[in-house]
Amino acid sequence: MRSLAPFDPKMLRELKGLVFDIQKFCVHDGPGIRTVVFFKGCNLRCSWCQNPESISPEPEIAYSRVQCIQCGVCLKACPHNAITSSPEGFVRHRSLCQKCMACVQVCSTQALRTVGQWMTVGEVIKKVAEDSIFYENSKGGVTFSGGEPTLQFNFLKAVLEESGRRHFHRALETNGYLLWKRLLQLLPQLELILFDLKHLHSRVHERFTGAGNRLIRMNLERLAKQSKVNWIPRVPLIPGLNDELKHLAHLGQWVKGLGAKEIHLLPYHRLGESKLGELGYPPENLIPGIRQPSEEEVEKAGQVLRQAGLTVIIGG
Ligand code: SF4
Ligand code: SF4
Repeated sequence: MRSLAPFDPKMLRELKGLVFDIQKFCVHDGPGIRTVVFFKGCNLRCSWCQNPESISPEPEIAYSRVQCIQCGVCLKACPHNAITSSPEGFVRHRSLCQKCMACVQVCSTQALRTVGQWMTVGEVIKKVAEDSIFYENSKGGVTFSGGEPTLQFNFLKAVLEESGRRHFHRALETNGYLLWKRLLQLLPQLELILFDLKHLHSRVHERFTGAGNRLIRMNLERLAKQSKVNWIPRVPLIPGLNDELKHLAHLGQWVKGLGAKEIHLLPYHRLGESKLGELGYPPENLIPGIRQPSEEEVEKAGQVLRQAGLTVIIGG
């Protein structure tokens, strides 16, 4: 039986988390039709990050040049003179910006928008519950992703508990870089963990994500041995970084040895690159020369993982 904390209406109203997106009708982040709630803030710095808006644990401002009609209203509204015009469009100077959001409020075309919204537990659950009929019919549910959702631990635990109360199937996508005792506390509230694995070797992992992977590997081993919660490893496929076939073969054998039956292979795509520009980050935040894998490379990677005895799902 699920262990749930007592229903607490105050917590529903007052406990808040920073969420940057809630996507509906998703079919790649767990079984059935799902709603995916994306938490803002991450403790790794993957050099291929495809969701750069998830990294900062604070609300940010994104600017779309395509939507900007060059009216200059934002420039006049800014009380800190943080916006200037240039031939390339309007430039927000991050060092001067106080994030008062006055510019966002006056922008009529939504060329400027806030990324990240503080939401209460009740607000998130209300959104998730809108599609409960689809979860029932498709055996779907809700997935909490990010960023790294476990960084907002109390909020995550509360939304998981509330989802459990409503009998929604609950999945967590995590990079695994957290203390085991924290993950342990979340397990009673989970039906599935989508466990990201970026590289098997700690030094390479550290070079490309900013942290070694000892803790991540230990957590997955403990999860596999000590818990009954289903888990599926997910591997981003980044040419030149982690797609060496020998590496993938070792990774496949390791997770198979831990009891995995299925693995998700997530080929790198370029959507994150335009998001970086919109957020005002320099392109150097991405590894130079990073590219999407070809169909043939994806197929070869899948083949190696299948040879390790795993069912391979491309794209999750
Ligand atoms: S207010 Fe919006 S549309 Fe007008 S210049 Fe600023 S960003 Fe562009
Ligand atoms: S958020 Fe405020 S300080 Fe920053 S650019 Fe907009 S108006 Fe200026």
